[in-house]
Amino acid sequence: MENCIFCKILNKEIPSKFIYEDENCFAINDINPKAKKHILVIPKAHVESLAQVEDMELVKKMFEAIKKINKQEGIVDFKTLINTGKSAGQEVMHLHIHILAD
Ligand code: AMP
Repeated sequence: MENCIFCKILNKEIPSKFIYEDENCFAINDINPKAKKHILVIPKAHVESLAQVEDMELVKKMFEAIKKINKQEGIVDFKTLINTGKSAGQEVMHLHIHILAD
């Protein structure tokens, strides 16, 4: 999707370090961390938000990725957050799950 930051990161148009990647999603460190570890899990397919997800299998796969990422990063206690819609605080209109751990 044109003009989507996360699509540009996926397509290497914006440099970013992938800390995890599989066939469905990838994960990067948040550029403006709000916890000691703040990771974003992002589907490779452009879906605007959770409200636009048609097949919830995608969300299951993202949470499966979270389990792997947390194991890899040594994260045991954590919060997950999905902002859905501009008035709920969603700034980037490409679905993502925040992992926040102190
Ligand atoms: P949200 O408010 O749920 O849409 O969250 C978007 C998140 O993306 C924010 O926490 C931003 O700090 C983060 N963000 C924006 N641009 C980048 C980027 N280039 N690399 C990493 N994180 C980003």
